[in-house]
Amino acid sequence: MIGRLFGSLSQKVPSLLYRVSLVMKPQVVFVLGGPGAGKGTQCSKIVESYGYTHLSAGDLLREERAREGSEFGQLIANYIKEGKIVPVEITINLLRKAMEATMKENENKFRFLIDGFPRNEDNLQGWNRVMDGKADVKFVLFFDCSNEVCINRCLERGKSSGRTDDNRESLEKRIQTYLQSTRPIIELYEKQGKVRTIDASRSVDEVFADVKAILDKEG
Ligand code: ADP
Ligand code: AMP
Repeated sequence: MIGRLFGSLSQKVPSLLYRVSLVMKPQVVFVLGGPGAGKGTQCSKIVESYGYTHLSAGDLLREERAREGSEFGQLIANYIKEGKIVPVEITINLLRKAMEATMKENENKFRFLIDGFPRNEDNLQGWNRVMDGKADVKFVLFFDCSNEVCINRCLERGKSSGRTDDNRESLEKRIQTYLQSTRPIIELYEKQGKVRTIDASRSVDEVFADVKAILDKEG
């Protein structure tokens, strides 16, 4: 009797745990700023000290571009080179899958830094359509610095990054996209009191000191 009870319980425990992990809502911090503002650099540092998983929309799109057999590879390549924002259906699916895979592998990994998203109105609507009620957006970390600093950092990065868009021509388009499409999204979140602005023009360590202060308080 006890043996049978134990047997049926041990069968149920893994599925119960799985269900608990499904119930755990992802906690999301959006990370925004101009191209080269240092989003990726700071996210890597956050991951080292806090229990966050870093998901970069740009990295996920570059991976998808490189994936053999991807039906979107060429489209993504064109958009990235032109500094344009890839249609949200593609990006949101990549983000959703990455979040699910992370949480399935480890149920404690439900905190996400989503870097480079939402970059425009289309992104925001896509997020609300697919993720509304399924994830909590805690706040937006906004790395603020001048276009000139952004451009110089990307040109410097371009010497070794091998990226197709770290050149002056693509950068001018990326800055335009940032100013026209992303800034209004940041302003929208600002009105909701959700933006934590950091002066990103300083050294990596100075910027991180501010990031830490924010995360220690509310992260
Ligand atoms: P983003 O993810 O916003 O595009 P990155 O984190 O890739 O930006 O940074 C862009 C480039 O600038 C990289 O070469 C990085 O090493 C450098 N960088 C990042 N933060 C700083 C900083 N605070 N000061 C100087 N250079 C920086
Ligand atoms: P990043 O790596 O953040 O500098 O992004 C590089 C490029 O990837 C951008 O210029 C866009 O073409 C594309 N991209 C990045 N994030 C997004 C996004 N949220 N939505 C659509 N396209 C994106």
